[in-house]
Amino acid sequence: MVIIVGSGAGGGIIALELAKDNIPVTIIEKGSYIHSKDAFNHYDKYSEDVDLLTTTCIGGSTIVSMSNMVKALDGELYEYGINLKEEYEYVEKLINVHPLDDSHIGKGTQLFLDAGRELGLNTLKMPKAITEEKCIQCGKCAFGCPMDAKWSGKDFVDEAVKEGATLITEAEVTEIIADDDKVKGVKYRKNNVEEEIYSDKVILSAGAIGTSLILRSAGIEAGNEMFFDPFVSVGGYLKDINFNSEVQMAGLIVGRNFVLSPHFSSFLKGNMDDREVGDKDILSIMVKTADESKGFVDGEGDVVKINSINDIRYLAEGVATAGFVLEKCGVDPSTICSTVYRGAHPGGTAPIGKVVDSNQETKIKGLFVSDASVLPISPGKPPILTILALSKRLADYIKN
Ligand SMILES: Cc1cc2nc3c(=O)[nH]c(=O)nc-3n(C[C@H](O)[C@H](O)[C@H](O)COP(=O)(O)OP(=O)(O)OC[C@H]3O[C@@H](n4cnc5c(N)ncnc54)[C@H](O)[C@@H]3O)c2cc1C
Repeated sequence: MVIIVGSGAGGGIIALELAKDNIPVTIIEKGSYIHSKDAFNHYDKYSEDVDLLTTTCIGGSTIVSMSNMVKALDGELYEYGINLKEEYEYVEKLINVHPLDDSHIGKGTQLFLDAGRELGLNTLKMPKAITEEKCIQCGKCAFGCPMDAKWSGKDFVDEAVKEGATLITEAEVTEIIADDDKVKGVKYRKNNVEEEIYSDKVILSAGAIGTSLILRSAGIEAGNEMFFDPFVSVGGYLKDINFNSEVQMAGLIVGRNFVLSPHFSSFLKGNMDDREVGDKDILSIMVKTADESKGFVDGEGDVVKINSINDIRYLAEGVATAGFVLEKCGVDPSTICSTVYRGAHPGGTAPIGKVVDSNQETKIKGLFVSDASVLPISPGKPPILTILALSKRLADYIKN
């Protein structure tokens, strides 16, 4: 039997791949089993010093994701002998990654795409795992999809359970049980009762923060560095654009040090208080960059993030470019403003080459990590596809 801790981007696919091959699997998930439409109730809380978005529930943060699916860190992973070409092909087919059909590209997104091209920027439709036939274009991707139109890790968990996997929810793994540097199982708490479950193979997919805490309980140094792919949303007034009800982040501009994607933020309204602005009158763009792994997870699972000069420089370059794009789209330049600095892709807390080897195994035999923790540096772009590909590769390694 294989124990998988966490049911998000890393955990779901491993559970499915193993269960399909009749390998007994037990998934232990801290959060509850919910419908995706209720996901917005399950965002985590961190200290006021950091604006970090993650969720604790079935599917982890994939359930509130925009289902943006891009390849990342090819060169960096290759340095560790990892070539994900075949795994990417497999996963992209499995979840049907494709640019959205024009029927699902809204007016605001089209303005973004046209402006990017006119400005000579590297502009494309965002590859996504969304089923257009089910998507009602409500703009609520980050709340959890009311129609189950976008892929999430929950889909894989449901399929794994159909294939015979056991799922234990509302159960927090607190400790690794190990002997002679070999893993024996895990301790978890459910309904305030401590339980133990045994296996010589344990895969931690509890996300960058959860995995760090569990590894530390086994005496492994983790969570002492961390990136989170910082972002801001920059936008302004464009009367009746109705961008708030479009599929979010359906376009992409790739810069050297940043990516831009059309993304609605109602926080911007507060910065345009000298005129009547409704959600329907805002066109905004997410500016996302790769940050240095300067930050850490504290003993309570809270996060401290330190910004370097380069982090700020890259963000400033992206924000300036977003301003040009917005102006080209017809946004009133005098209204352009930004949200605060936030992060939604915590990772790099147990990086390959430092905490795990290139088979994602820790120094404790049989104890593996497969989630955003293992990414060696910040991708500065959506990491789910890379986590899925790495996890598919680990599932194959465990099978053999
Ligand atoms: C609003 C939002 C939008 C996003 N959009 C995109 C996007 O479009 N594309 C993209 O690539 N990325 C996106 N991301 C980022 C992406 O969701 C994460 O990078 C990814 O889910 C991380 O995968 P993971 O396996 O590391 O963690 P998660 O997917 O978060 O999974 C970790 C799981 O472990 C569970 N867990 C934690 N601790 C324990 C414990 N002690 N015991 C048991 N279980 C535990 C958690 O409840 C969770 O289910 C988005 C994130 C947010 C917040």
